[in-house]
Amino acid sequence: MAKKDSVRIAVIDKEKCINGDGCAFLCSNACPVNRAGKECIVLGSDNKPVISEDLCIGCSICCKRCIVQCISIINLVSEKHSVPVHQYGKNAFRLFNLPVPKPNSVVGLLGRNGIGKTTALRILAGQLVPNFADFDSRESYEKAISFFRGKELQGFFEKLSKKQIRLSYKPQKVDEIPEIFKGKVRALLEKADEKKQLPQIAAELGIDSVLDNEISKVSGGELQRIAIAACALKKADIYYFDEPSSYLDVSQRLKAAELIRQLLDEKTFVIVVEHDLALLDYLSDYIHIFYGNKSVYGIASGIKSVRNGINEFLEGFLPEENTRFREKELSFGVKPPALSEKRKAIIEYPALEKKLGNFSMQTSAGNFMEGEVIGVLGPNAIGKTTFVKLLASEIKPDNIQLNFKLKIAYKPQYLKPPEKILVQQLFSSREINQQLFETEVDRKLGIKNFFEHRLDELSGGELQKTSIAYNLCLGADLILLDEPSAFIDIEDRLRVADCIKSVVSTTKKIALVVDHDILFQDYISDRLIVFSGEPAKKGFSSQPMPMHEGMNLFLKEMNVSMRRDASSGRPRINKLDSVLDKEQKQIGEYYYKIG
Ligand code: SF4
Repeated sequence: MAKKDSVRIAVIDKEKCINGDGCAFLCSNACPVNRAGKECIVLGSDNKPVISEDLCIGCSICCKRCIVQCISIINLVSEKHSVPVHQYGKNAFRLFNLPVPKPNSVVGLLGRNGIGKTTALRILAGQLVPNFADFDSRESYEKAISFFRGKELQGFFEKLSKKQIRLSYKPQKVDEIPEIFKGKVRALLEKADEKKQLPQIAAELGIDSVLDNEISKVSGGELQRIAIAACALKKADIYYFDEPSSYLDVSQRLKAAELIRQLLDEKTFVIVVEHDLALLDYLSDYIHIFYGNKSVYGIASGIKSVRNGINEFLEGFLPEENTRFREKELSFGVKPPALSEKRKAIIEYPALEKKLGNFSMQTSAGNFMEGEVIGVLGPNAIGKTTFVKLLASEIKPDNIQLNFKLKIAYKPQYLKPPEKILVQQLFSSREINQQLFETEVDRKLGIKNFFEHRLDELSGGELQKTSIAYNLCLGADLILLDEPSAFIDIEDRLRVADCIKSVVSTTKKIALVVDHDILFQDYISDRLIVFSGEPAKKGFSSQPMPMHEGMNLFLKEMNVSMRRDASSGRPRINKLDSVLDKEQKQIGEYYYKIG
């Protein structure tokens, strides 16, 4: 029997389990409890193993013997987690605790994918009735009301059970909207417009010019803003926004944040799941951190102030819960200015010009130095991707012929994986620097975890990490990475940033990174190229600039100022028109001082 203050969690990935076909149920034969004559692992009606969490002694022998690694055994030491709020079945994923919706507040959910944020959202949205690991009884809110008696969630579930809570939801996968809705943007938004605020909200989000376009013809960034508008136009008590930043540039992200905050009143709750830490910080009043073991279990921390919550997340330690959920702290210590004078410029490039339809762009000449990461910032449709394609020789400049005598690796913004190729095959190519892969890249990104998977069957995040890892290991002199943070969760984002930085500094090569996540850019970049101009009409780029100068220029264009958090050192966006915002803008210091 599990001790009273510890919980044994046994989860079987039924998709992976091969039903004894070739494994002869090694797990049940090897289990010491079975060998002692008890029935710890038995065969279920689906001919797959069923593990008794009461009999299991947590030795993990079954996990080691299983040839497809479909079993996870976890020993959770905490009385607080004896009963999950929801469990999807025997030996299945479970969630402990729930976030607390707070009226007149934005509550942010922070944590990696696959540890229960969506389950929590579905419960609070009334789409999933929490079962408290009782799979056989009929669905009812009685258990939830009694479990949370005396807490804020009691009243919430009482209202939910009486259907007194109206919900409006912005889904994560906005690119699926054209498959569900055919017709013009205006028709979709008019259908959602219970508040009769369509013209105003469309103008605030900058989508008024696409209202008469077909949904199937709008860009990813436009679809995201259309989905945010549709959610905001409904009359609701709870608004959920699942990853509102995807496809948006920094200015669009901040406008979306302003709009989301305008939804608050005495009776309205907003819950946001977001992996852009600077945006989540700007948008939220409170934070719940989700931690656990991917696809095995998840725990929602207690409610925290936004500042403490994000700092604790970066530290990987929750003092109130007395829980360390990551070994390494992610630090944003003060960066010395890049020591450009000590570095050797190994790539010089000329000013480039390119015209594509009605859009034209010009870039300044510049150089890249050994061992540096160059960040590229600017609005959408301003020429950043065109610049990267020119450097990668995917397209040719109009004014000059580029002839780099260097090896260049290029990860495009949109990834199209080849069919039927295993991840392992990709990394067994002779081009791959195996030592770098083993010692730096796989250790940080865990690519071997999906070595047996086909590239065209990976999730968006897995494919992104695989492509980044592949390009980092090609031994290229210049590594071009267009939006490496897209589709990956917060934990992996910070690991990717760490990995790019360490590969570049170890190999003394160069990485050029286009990304809208400002904290990600602040973390990895030594110098910055800033794009400005008129989106979709004309774009101009600066030459690579020192970090402080580049950020200052970019933030000035965005009319945003940033400060540094006193304890974690991370950059924080100042609230518009706050005292600090006004002070910094007045003296022209949009970006905090380095050093
Ligand atoms: Fe048996 Fe539990 Fe050990 Fe697995 S971890 S072999 S189920 S006792």
